[in-house]
Amino acid sequence: MKRIAVFPGSFDPITKGHESIILRAIPLFDEIVVAIGENAEKKSFFPLEKRVKWVQDVFQGVPQVTVESYQGLTVDFCRERNAGYILRGLRTSADFEFERSIGQINKKLYPGIETVFLLTTPEFTALNSSIVRDILKNGGDPSQFVPDAVKF
Ligand code: ADP
Repeated sequence: MKRIAVFPGSFDPITKGHESIILRAIPLFDEIVVAIGENAEKKSFFPLEKRVKWVQDVFQGVPQVTVESYQGLTVDFCRERNAGYILRGLRTSADFEFERSIGQINKKLYPGIETVFLLTTPEFTALNSSIVRDILKNGGDPSQFVPDAVKF
């Protein structure tokens, strides 16, 4: 059976932290589906099409990595895609507390799923998409924090 992992998130926008987790996960799985959640209650800063396009551009020429958007429960999306794994990055102990509850609930909802965590490399621990958005909103240049293919 193919080892398919779903990497869910908002990717608003994709950062070097996300890119690093995906690159490090490539040897572990046959396929990684970057799954960009559409959340009606949580308005994103960048439109969905842009967030999808940036991930496509970053992983152009890497056939194991695909990108899709989804609505609804992550586990339902995993079931539809025959994915046995959810991939997540862990930066801090706060991430751990948050991820533990989601991971345990997801396992209850879909016993066939395993959540796999990769620890962030130290240089990306402080990085998240909201910092990138804040820099942009305040007229700064966040390009060092995002993959080269991401142009604002
Ligand atoms: P969410 O929408 O759930 O807040 P994000 O879209 O920011 O999450 O991120 C999706 C996944 O990427 C999460 O597992 C998160 O821990 C991970 N991630 C985000 N930023 C980094 C980073 N700087 N280094 C490693 N992993 C990260």
